Amino acid sequence: MVGTAQVRLCPPYEAFKMKSNKQKRSEIRARKEAKREKAESLAAQAAREARQAQLRPARPRDELPVDAAKLSKNNSYSIPVFVERGTYASIEFACKACGKVETWTAGQQKWWYEIAKGDVFTTAIMCRPCRRRERARRDEARRTHLEGVARKARVPKG
Ligand SMILES: [Zn+2]
Repeated sequence: MVGTAQVRLCPPYEAFKMKSNKQKRSEIRARKEAKREKAESLAAQAAREARQAQLRPARPRDELPVDAAKLSKNNSYSIPVFVERGTYASIEFACKACGKVETWTAGQQKWWYEIAKGDVFTTAIMCRPCRRRERARRDEARRTHLEGVARKARVPKG
């Protein structure tokens, strides 16, 4: 115990210098590591951008003009991309429910925003089969609920 304390209190000069070099080496290693990490994060960013590019219109001929007068009113200050661009363009998206990649065509978008009056900030999130299944489930739940309400109303008081 006493020996260790002495070494710590009075380190030989060489040992001190060596430690310093060791420290330098570890600093260089840390810098290299940081550089490598930066390169990796840049690669990850590039991958993200490539994925984003997939969300952009694939082919210009898949575009349809936006009739802004037919859109549902929205109080937001921001402008949806398709309004700014003036055209609907096919979008590829992964279904929220099953993960399948599906195309939301310009025609489907025009129908959704201009005829169904869908909110301009909503986009397709589920594929057709999942959407149909979801709608059937909702309809069934509503029907069951209404039946329950009707049954309760028939129960005599007291
Ligand atoms: Zn799906």
